[in-house]
Amino acid sequence: MNEKIIIVGPCSVESPEQLLAAARGLQPASISYLRGGIWKPRTRPGSYEGIGAEGVTWMQDVRRELHVPIITEVANTKQVEIAMKAEFDALWLGARTTVNPFYVQEIAEALKGASIPLFIKNPINPDLNLWVGAIERVKKLVQGEVAAIHRGFQSFRKYTYRNQPQWSIPIALKGIFPDIKLLCDPSHIAGHRNVVPEIAQHAYDLQFDGLMVEVHPVPDQAMSDAAQQLTPRDFIDMLDTLIIREDATDDVLVNEKIEQLRSSIDNLDEQLIGILAERMKISMEIGEIKSEEGIAILQPSRWKWILENALRTGQSKNISEEFLTALFNSIHDASINKQIDVMRQKVVKKL
Ligand code: PEP
Ligand code: MN
Repeated sequence: MNEKIIIVGPCSVESPEQLLAAARGLQPASISYLRGGIWKPRTRPGSYEGIGAEGVTWMQDVRRELHVPIITEVANTKQVEIAMKAEFDALWLGARTTVNPFYVQEIAEALKGASIPLFIKNPINPDLNLWVGAIERVKKLVQGEVAAIHRGFQSFRKYTYRNQPQWSIPIALKGIFPDIKLLCDPSHIAGHRNVVPEIAQHAYDLQFDGLMVEVHPVPDQAMSDAAQQLTPRDFIDMLDTLIIREDATDDVLVNEKIEQLRSSIDNLDEQLIGILAERMKISMEIGEIKSEEGIAILQPSRWKWILENALRTGQSKNISEEFLTALFNSIHDASINKQIDVMRQKVVKKL
């Protein structure tokens, strides 16, 4: 049985009426926690920075009235104290907190011994170790269950989404902590409500354990993140249409087919490694010649040609430019490192 953790509610708690309308609208769905941002970490001052402690009572009131567990974001000791006193059912750490080990340590210490569930968003930059470190710091001191939320990464390159997802990073995190639950926040990845469902489906296809989604009774009037919030109705419709994938199937024929295809993939992977090894050998031979003739290793015009050629070939074969660029950057880096090794060895021999 696939029980997903569903955290949903407004980006910011704005008024008792707004919070109650969101929560009422969500009632037909079975949700795990009603979210509400009380203290808002905004990139620039002057944007709406949250209602502050006053919002705590509003969240408690909605919990009492609708019997729904409540969760909010905490970013310092003071906020932890207020939230713990109000007996929040869970807390989360935002992307701008996870990025800073000082903050995470401070919060972990403020929560020492508490048995409250904690959700840790990925740091704003794609650094797996910062995320791992934050989880380790918290796990050391806090008793409650710790889960992770993928909310995408900031990038100076303009992509389709507000915060680019890098699915390999949460998957690697799950490899390090196999027991922690992994959620996706499609709202902060998307930046726009139209693409929230496709990102949520992507997360479900990768067997994420749940979602954190922003909803607002009148999204366009929201005081923060207006473009990405869904109405409660649209959220419920989305939940109804999301397909939950099973771990495996009992169908023998389907399993056989998958096995066959997997063995073709294993075969191709082996060939890929063989081809890469051959490419590396040739690159080392070139390194020898460059070293003998005193030619520089990096020739930007040659590298430009390689990448353009790869992208041209890739386009005709329907391989994404983003993927090929990352792949060829990595191959090129490895190749340059090998040539540097070759040159160093020559210098050492001469000495
Ligand atoms: C939020 O959930 O409203 C929020 C500020 O998220 P993040 O930390 O992912 O930016
Ligand atoms: Mn938000």
